[in-house]
Amino acid sequence: MTLDLKLRSALLERVRYYHELGIYDFYRREPQVSPLAAHLAVGPEPFTPQPELREEMPSRNSAAAPTVAGDNIFEVLTPKPEHRVTDPVAALKLIREDLGDCTRCKLHKQGRKQIVFGVGNPRAELMFVGEGPGADEDAQGEPFVGRAGQLLNNMIKAMGLAREEVYIANVVKCRPPGNRTPERDECDTCSPFLMRQIAVIKPKVVVALGAVAAKNLLAINAPMSELRGRFYDFMPAGARGSDPSWQGARLAVTYHPAFLLRDPRQKGEAWKDLQMVMKYLGLKPAQKSE
Ligand code: SF4
Repeated sequence: MTLDLKLRSALLERVRYYHELGIYDFYRREPQVSPLAAHLAVGPEPFTPQPELREEMPSRNSAAAPTVAGDNIFEVLTPKPEHRVTDPVAALKLIREDLGDCTRCKLHKQGRKQIVFGVGNPRAELMFVGEGPGADEDAQGEPFVGRAGQLLNNMIKAMGLAREEVYIANVVKCRPPGNRTPERDECDTCSPFLMRQIAVIKPKVVVALGAVAAKNLLAINAPMSELRGRFYDFMPAGARGSDPSWQGARLAVTYHPAFLLRDPRQKGEAWKDLQMVMKYLGLKPAQKSE
């Protein structure tokens, strides 16, 4: 497709604007609605759990930014800083530097103490993605360190792993006030950095913790009852077509540990989700005597 000069100039202007926001990836994603979840899914049919709180979130069309169909102008003009390095430690550092003292969304001025970037093994095979930092995480600068974090640690341990062996991050990196659900614009602004982290770490499996994480990663607006119990093929925008050594991750959805603290009856269902992941990764459950 050939663009006329006026349109091309407008597009370049838009690209510069998104660069200032820290957004480097522009891709086309077909609108997805609940029934498509079944089409994308592989594996067993979902279970029928109780609905998770915070389940409803308006649908979104993209994890990054609008695209222009049929033209690759953005891909040519928007290399990411971390593409300069192959070491994931250095690459994550570059993403963190790019994030800077971020003021890209309104969460920066709503009481955050610090940005909670992510923690863990930069070469992890397994990655957990939550919703956003809470009070403890905001205070310590590390995701999942409060009561929900202790439960996540137990879940990881039950899978036969240590917390240091996985990577943990959130959709938004600043604490929403009063632990409210992050809003659409906040998720859309922050999640490109998460996508870049995933593209650098190249995990085999990403586990979305809760409906907010699942819907932001998959861009599917569906209830937890449909999202859980199966694998999805997942490729973050930052890795699309740029890394022949990694064909993307499998993504599973389970309950957020904070939800499991409120409704412990669902722990058995969450364990089923984790067992599905363990089977795929060849993990054996931890011995009870530990
Ligand atoms: S939530 Fe993300 S985009 Fe918003 S200010 Fe914090 S780091 Fe920046």
